Amino acid sequence: MVAVVESADRSQAALAGGMFLAQEVGATPFVTPESFTDEQRLFFKTALQFCREQVLTQAERIEAKDNALLRDLLRRAGELGLLSVDISEAHGGTGLDKTTSLLLAEAMALLGSWSVTFGAHTGIGTLPIVWFGNAAQKAKYLPKLASGEWVAAYALTEQGSGSDARAAKTKAVRSADGQHYVLNGSKLYITNAAFADVFVVFAQVDGDKFTGFIVERGTPGFSVGPEEHKMGIRGSSTCPLYFEDARVPAENLLGELGKGHKIAFNILNYGRLKLGAGVIGGMKLQLENALKFAQERQQFKTPIVRFPLIREKLARMASLVYALETMTYRTAGLVDGRLASKERSAPDYDAHLIAAIEEYVTEASIMKVFGSEALGVLVDDAVQIHGGAGYIEEYPVERAYRDARINRIFEGTNEINRMLITGMLLKRAVKGDLPLFALARSVADALSRAERPRARKQDALAAEEVAAECAKQLALHGMRLATEAFGTELDRHQEVMALLADVVMDAFALDSMVTRTRQVAGDGALDPTRVALVRLYAQESTTRAFERTRRALCSILKGEALQAELKRLATLDAFSPYDPAELRETVVAALEVAGGYPYSAA
Ligand SMILES: Cc1cc2nc3c(=O)[nH]c(=O)nc-3n(C[C@H](O)[C@H](O)[C@H](O)COP(=O)(O)OP(=O)(O)OC[C@H]3O[C@@H](n4cnc5c(N)ncnc54)[C@H](O)[C@@H]3O)c2cc1C
Repeated sequence: MVAVVESADRSQAALAGGMFLAQEVGATPFVTPESFTDEQRLFFKTALQFCREQVLTQAERIEAKDNALLRDLLRRAGELGLLSVDISEAHGGTGLDKTTSLLLAEAMALLGSWSVTFGAHTGIGTLPIVWFGNAAQKAKYLPKLASGEWVAAYALTEQGSGSDARAAKTKAVRSADGQHYVLNGSKLYITNAAFADVFVVFAQVDGDKFTGFIVERGTPGFSVGPEEHKMGIRGSSTCPLYFEDARVPAENLLGELGKGHKIAFNILNYGRLKLGAGVIGGMKLQLENALKFAQERQQFKTPIVRFPLIREKLARMASLVYALETMTYRTAGLVDGRLASKERSAPDYDAHLIAAIEEYVTEASIMKVFGSEALGVLVDDAVQIHGGAGYIEEYPVERAYRDARINRIFEGTNEINRMLITGMLLKRAVKGDLPLFALARSVADALSRAERPRARKQDALAAEEVAAECAKQLALHGMRLATEAFGTELDRHQEVMALLADVVMDAFALDSMVTRTRQVAGDGALDPTRVALVRLYAQESTTRAFERTRRALCSILKGEALQAELKRLATLDAFSPYDPAELRETVVAALEVAGGYPYSAA
C-alpha cells in the first residue's frame, strides 16, 4: 500500500493519529521498550519495586478495605515522586514525559484495587486541575496532591448518565451574592470517594451549561454515601456522592463555564491510554504466576507445564502481552514526539499536551478495548492453568479474574470505544486529515485485479507483513463501502462500526508487532521468539479480520452486489497457517528461561 501524503510537512503528516492505517508496515520507526532511556527504565524499576514490595505484600489488607493503608501507600508513593509525573515542577511535580507516565501505570497495576485507587488519584482526579486549573487552583491543590497529603477523585457518572455523560442532571446555580455555586444532585460509582479530599465534579449550570467544579470534602451540603459491594477491585473505594444545596466557592469553577465536556473528554482520552498501559502490568504478573504454578504443579507424574495445551495457553498469553505492549509504547512515543519541541515550563505547554493526546484518540480507544479484552482472555487462561485452585480465593488468580472485568466498563465502555475507533477515523478522513478514502479507492482497484499486497521485506516476517497490509485493506475497503451505503447514518449501524473497529485493532497490532520485531533486529537476524509471538498473533487475527469484514459486508450490501464483493474480498484471505506446536515451543522455552514475559523494561 502506498501512503498518499502530499503535504509539505510530510514527516508531521506521517505521524498523524490513525496514520498507521494509511502507511506501509515499518514506514515510520517508533518507540519500543527496547529504546527506552535509562531514566525511563530506572523510574519503571523503582515503581515496580514499590508495587511489588509495598503494595502486593499488603494485598489482603487492601482487599479488606483498609482505607488508612491506601492513604498511607499513596503518601509513600508521593515521597518517591510516583504521584507527580504528570504535574509540572513548578507545582511540586516532576513533569516527566508520557512514556514514563504510562510505564508508571504499568508498574502500579500488579493489584487491581491499588491500580484503580492510584489511577483515580493521579489521573482522572488530579489531571483536570493540572490541565484546566487556573494559577490559584494549581497552587492550592497540586503540591498536596503530588505529595499524597490530599487524595483526589473524579465525579462524572450519575444514576441516569453513564455513557451519555452530558445528560448529567446535577445542577449548579450561582448564589445571589455571586460568591458560591449551589449544587444539587448526586453522583454514582465514584472511585476513592470514601477518603478523597478533593473531588472534580461536573454539573449543569443554569440547566444546560455543563461545567467542572473542584469540591472539597467538608463542603456544607456535600456528603459521601455508603460503599458499593463490588465483583472485583474490592479494596478500592466506590461510593455515591450527594449534593444538597452544597455551597461551592465560585473560584472553584474549573476551566470555563459550559466547557466541562472539554475537561471530561480530554481526561478520558488520556485515561484510555493509561488503562492500556496498566493492563500490561497485570498481564505480565498473571503470566509469570501461571508459568510458576504450571512448573510446580504435577499431574500424571509430570509438571503440567510440559503439556502442550498448557504451553499453548502460555504462548498465547505472551503473544497478547507483546501486542499490547508494542501498541501502547508506540502511541506513548508518538504523543511525546509531538511535544518534543515544546518547552515544558511554557504557559501553553498543557494546551499542546492536550492536543497531542487528542491527536491519538483512535489509538487510545484501541488501547482501552484491546487491553481490557486481552486481559480478559489472559486471566481466563491463567485460571484454567490453575485448575480448581484457580477458583479458590486463596490464589491471587481468582482475584485477578474478578478484578479484570471492570476494565471493559469504565473509561468509556468497550461498546462506546468501538464506535469511537471507526467514527474518529472516518471523521478525520472526511476532514482530509487522513488519506483513507483515496487509499480505499486504490484498494478497490487492486481487488478488481485480484491483486494482493506484497511484502517489502523478504524476511521471516514477510507473511505477517502481508497479513498486516491485508488487515488494513480490509478495514479501508469496509469503511469506504459502509460510508457509501449509509453516509451520515453509519453511526446507527453499530455492528458494522464495531466489526470494522475490530479489524482496525488487529491491523494496528500486527503492524506494530512486525515493525517492532524488525526494528529490534536492525540489520541482524530476527529474534526467533519474537517472530513466533508475531506469528501466533497473526495466525489468530488474520482469519478473524477477514471473517469480520465479510460479516460487515453482509450488513452493507445485499444480493448480487454482496456476492460479487465477497468474491473480490477473497483475494485478501491469504495467510497460510503454521504448525502451532512449533510456535508455542519457541515461545514457552523463552518464558521458562526468563521466568515470565521475557522483554520487561526493568
Ligand atoms: C468500580 C467502578 C468505578 C468507577 N469509577 C468512576 C469514577 O471514579 N468516576 C466516575 O465518574 N465514574 C466512575 N464509574 C462509572 C463508569 O464510568 C460507568 O459505569 C461507565 O461509564 C458506564 O456507564 P453506566 O454504568 O451508566 O452504563 P450505561 O451507560 O447505562 O451502559 C449500559 C450498557 O449499554 C451500553 N451502551 C450505552 N450507550 C450505548 C450506545 N450509544 N451504543 C451502544 N451501547 C451503549 C454500554 O456499553 C453498556 O454495555 C465507575 C464504575 C465502576 C463500576
